[in-house]
Amino acid sequence: MCYRTRFAPSPTGLLHVGNAYSALRCQAWAEKYHAELLLRIEDIDHTRCRSEFADAIIEDLRWLGLSWLPQVRFQSRHLQDYQQAIHTLREMGVIYPCFCTRRQIQQEIMRMSSAPHAGEVTTLYPGMCRNLSENEQHDRMQHEPFAWRLNIDKAMVLAGEDISWRDGSGCLHTANIDHDIIIGRKDIDFSYHLAVVVDDALQNISHIIRGQDLKDSTGIHRLLQKLLGLPEPVYLHHRLLCDQGGERLAKRNTATTLRNLRQMGVDVFRLRDFLSDMETRCWPFREGDEREILNMLGKTR
Ligand code: GLU
Repeated sequence: MCYRTRFAPSPTGLLHVGNAYSALRCQAWAEKYHAELLLRIEDIDHTRCRSEFADAIIEDLRWLGLSWLPQVRFQSRHLQDYQQAIHTLREMGVIYPCFCTRRQIQQEIMRMSSAPHAGEVTTLYPGMCRNLSENEQHDRMQHEPFAWRLNIDKAMVLAGEDISWRDGSGCLHTANIDHDIIIGRKDIDFSYHLAVVVDDALQNISHIIRGQDLKDSTGIHRLLQKLLGLPEPVYLHHRLLCDQGGERLAKRNTATTLRNLRQMGVDVFRLRDFLSDMETRCWPFREGDEREILNMLGKTR
């Protein structure tokens, strides 16, 4: 069987060099193992994603030299797949509707932490909607907005064993999920966690190469895969690109976007060479240091 991986950006802004690094890691891995590379646009969050960014991402990835199998999957066009997963979890009794507002949750947390003998202050969901009767759930669902939460205790029992996963180097990690996470938001019907595991399975992804910022999410993904009976991919988490101050590169820093580098006349082959050698280095470019980047990457080969 052919290995398969994917690059799965969210179109909430333009791609920056950190995203380019991640995309190139996926591509390098795919080339090394003769694997197929897919592109998925993770755009279920209609409050933050924009189609202009999706178009720009595809254009910038082409400029970067990434190639992927035809047929980009846009999550927003496959909502019924995620709805089906919600339905399955609901049938299993591991998710429940949560009607709480942020304010109510905060008030409850404050109340609990000021009670005599209160333990450590927590920011986790205190579980007010966890044990509502079916009738109450049903009645309130008719006229109140709600999120779907995973009942973590039930989920762990149903999953049947400790949830763990091995990374590419064979190291074993145990999931550490300590509260009822949201699986479908009030404003967006599905969470990233749910959509990503459904898509990875539907697209037969065997290996997931992504940044370390998502490492903590992997335990949640393994749990959902177990509950939904989905196969387990291999997870490889790469380091994140930081600037010289040790700060992670972010989309809000416009100077590091591929669009900006391209418009400045940066040579894409030099950029690729530079990023392929980033294991131990940091990005030397700070907002406004245009001369530095042009000196390094701006000359043609
Ligand atoms: N869409 C996610 C992001 O842009 C990546 C998801 C993943 O690779 O699992 O951060």
